[in-house]
Amino acid sequence: MLVLVINSGSSSLKYQVRETTTEEVLLSGLVERIGEAEVPDHAAALETVEAHLNRVLGDRAIEAVGHRVVHGGERFTTPVLITHEIVRAIERLAPLAPLHNPAAALGIRALLEKWPKLPQVAVFDTAFHRTLPEHAWRYAVPDDLYKLHGVRRYGFHGTSHDFVTGRAAELLGIERGRFRAVIAHLGNGASVTAIRDGRSIDTSMGYTPLEGLVMGTRSGDLDASIVTQLVIRGEYTAEEMDRILNKDSGLKGLSGDNDMRSVVEAAAEGHDGAELALEVASYRLQKYIGGYHVAVGGAQAIVFTAGIGENSWPFRQRVVDGLGALGVTLDQMSNVERSQEARIISGPDSAIPVLVVPTDEESEIARATEELALAG
Ligand code: AMP
Repeated sequence: MLVLVINSGSSSLKYQVRETTTEEVLLSGLVERIGEAEVPDHAAALETVEAHLNRVLGDRAIEAVGHRVVHGGERFTTPVLITHEIVRAIERLAPLAPLHNPAAALGIRALLEKWPKLPQVAVFDTAFHRTLPEHAWRYAVPDDLYKLHGVRRYGFHGTSHDFVTGRAAELLGIERGRFRAVIAHLGNGASVTAIRDGRSIDTSMGYTPLEGLVMGTRSGDLDASIVTQLVIRGEYTAEEMDRILNKDSGLKGLSGDNDMRSVVEAAAEGHDGAELALEVASYRLQKYIGGYHVAVGGAQAIVFTAGIGENSWPFRQRVVDGLGALGVTLDQMSNVERSQEARIISGPDSAIPVLVVPTDEESEIARATEELALAG
């Protein structure tokens, strides 16, 4: 089936066309600066996409569309066929994902208008974490915060964690339903997930994607009183704190740069801030790996994925170097190898295999879209 996969942001729209039977990517592209003069809205962005489709696909027509949607709240625990009611529900979740859900809804609405007959499917980043037990998704705060405001752990990057879990189990020849692992999705945003019996039982991102690991520009875990105290004392407004913690923290806050390549290079040249950023980020991840190893009852794999996880061998090395207590070792040659293939990078004596598995969220979205479109 020919599936158009859409990732719609507020000012950009990423797209890909996949043939699901062959897993082939027929075309992909990115429309930027939506909202500016040349591309005033998402409908205009779709004109650009359509022209690209016509050029490359000729007579072949798209059969279904899959949309990445960041927040599915508690309602959406699986992918769904989109109706107007579903779009409204995605918009109603905006308070939980103010930057992402309204943008996804704009993309969906533009497509519904343009191609009303095409089956469209929403795939939610939160859905894979629906299997978290309550003791993992609850925060220890008064019940009203959950009941009235939906304050709980939702978790993100679910499509990626799901895909990578399946590939890692396959690579190791372990039945997915019995697979226990720790999956580290390390991109500009980063999260780590505990997998037991092939399912998510804990994950480091929480109510929003701010919690957990040190990321490109997000702080990850911190004491909530930092925010309340600085706001109460009038040092910053709540909006400023939100910006500081989401946009100016993490690698960028500590080193001045949010790009892992530059941070690694700067550290190698003796930049103290960059060295500190790498230490703080790798230490944070080591703590999660240790904790999740316990949570899953002994991991059968530690898996690295996404931009940094797949490409930054120095960062992987730093992380694994701190896992000596788990009996984990690296095979230096495999770790530094430049390859786009899923592979094992641990030493033959490692107590737990360490893997690099390239993620492919679009493939997972296309697969789910085909399944629902065929079920109709
Ligand atoms: P993502 O959000 O998955 O696209 O990942 C973005 C992050 O991956 C950025 O921090 C990049 O610096 C990092 N990254 C991408 N390619 C490389 C590479 N070849 N070496 C090191 N880091 C990389």
